[in-house]
Amino acid sequence: MALIVQKYGGTSVANTERIKAVAERVVNTAKEGNNVVVVVSAMAGETDKLIGLAHQISSNPNEREMDMLLSSGERVTSALTAIAVEALGHKALALTGRQAGIITDTVHTKARIERISGERIKKAIDEGYIVVIAGFQGVTEGETEVTTLGRGGSDLSAVAIAAAVNADLCEIYTDVDGVYTTDPNIVPEATKLLRISYEEMLELASLGAKVLQTRSVEFAMKYNVPVVVRSSFNYNQGTLVVEEDKDMENVVVSGIAYDKNQTKITIVNVPDKPGIAAKLFDAIASANLVVDMIVQNISSDGKSADISFTVPKTDSKKALDVTEAVAGELGAERVDKREDISKVSVVGVGMRTHSGVASRMFKTLADHNINIMMISTSEIKVSCVIDLKYTELAVRVLHEAFGLNG
Ligand code: ADP
Ligand code: ASP
Ligand code: MG
Repeated sequence: MALIVQKYGGTSVANTERIKAVAERVVNTAKEGNNVVVVVSAMAGETDKLIGLAHQISSNPNEREMDMLLSSGERVTSALTAIAVEALGHKALALTGRQAGIITDTVHTKARIERISGERIKKAIDEGYIVVIAGFQGVTEGETEVTTLGRGGSDLSAVAIAAAVNADLCEIYTDVDGVYTTDPNIVPEATKLLRISYEEMLELASLGAKVLQTRSVEFAMKYNVPVVVRSSFNYNQGTLVVEEDKDMENVVVSGIAYDKNQTKITIVNVPDKPGIAAKLFDAIASANLVVDMIVQNISSDGKSADISFTVPKTDSKKALDVTEAVAGELGAERVDKREDISKVSVVGVGMRTHSGVASRMFKTLADHNINIMMISTSEIKVSCVIDLKYTELAVRVLHEAFGLNG
């Protein structure tokens, strides 16, 4: 008998028909002799809809109240799923994040899980219940405030619960049947990976592949939770996310990711002297902004520089305000902002032992007349910032150039 955590994303619980199908799948897994804990997202589009309602009322809604609002979406699906499981004749118990003992820090709208007291979940399993937990939410210490875990956070709920109850497997059910070499909705030739290392998955997720939320992969890696990504719409074999093994290094590039959620800020014509970058990024860090790429260009006479950096689009206004506030003090001519950019990345643990990946990437983009604005690299990835309108083209041609077309 195994203990399995199954997480169903928004499209998997999009309406009552889908919820009934999920309940059947869950009950069948139990009938095969397993204990099942279910984690659900809100119905597809529900979280966006709730955010939209709040913004109809205020351009800057209070984050505590946003958590009160957004956590309701998952509460609805957990109760409906439990009702659907009971309708099939199996005992079921829906729990909110608080009832499941998911304790987080106090950072509203992007809280971190601090611990999970798995007692109530374990007791319910022992009593023969299928436990259905509302994903994406927790509660602060002392159970005073409801928090949410950031967009896509139900993946994290599932992985953290799997670790807390010592599950044998954490299955992430979504609308694609696994992790592909790139987003299969953009490149139909993308191929499914049967296995991928935590480290590669972490890079792909943080570089924009939303099939798994970044923090859920971090958590799975840290606590060694075996994760499978599968489709709730069929019974195809999924992708296993596991520790790296020898064979994986033979593949130079295992995936291509893209991220359209980027903004580039440039501070133009600052004096090229010690301390300028330090002052700029000190101001940025003090505003709790996380910068991704940084590029500095020195003018031909060596006297001045332009410094560009990227931030997530959601932080672009704040980043612009902070940069404009220090621009005068730094002696800058002006500050520019570009929203129409994206980041494309190639990822693979094989890059550690194979050279030439960056040059092939640059040549492929050049051959298609795609200009590179910024570059960053790590041991297992190369990323380029390009014009937003070339994103899909870049992903397709890189996918082909690195031999990933199936
Ligand atoms: P859910 O609502 O189930 O959490 P998401 O929309 O968050 O589902 O994630 C699934 C989506 O991730 C897919 O529909 C696909 O478009 C996208 N995706 C991006 N990159 C990849 C990839 N490399 N492999 C599979 N899916 C990907
Ligand atoms: N419903 C939340 C979101 O849309 C969490 C999730 O789906 O994982 O971000
Ligand atoms: Mg998701």
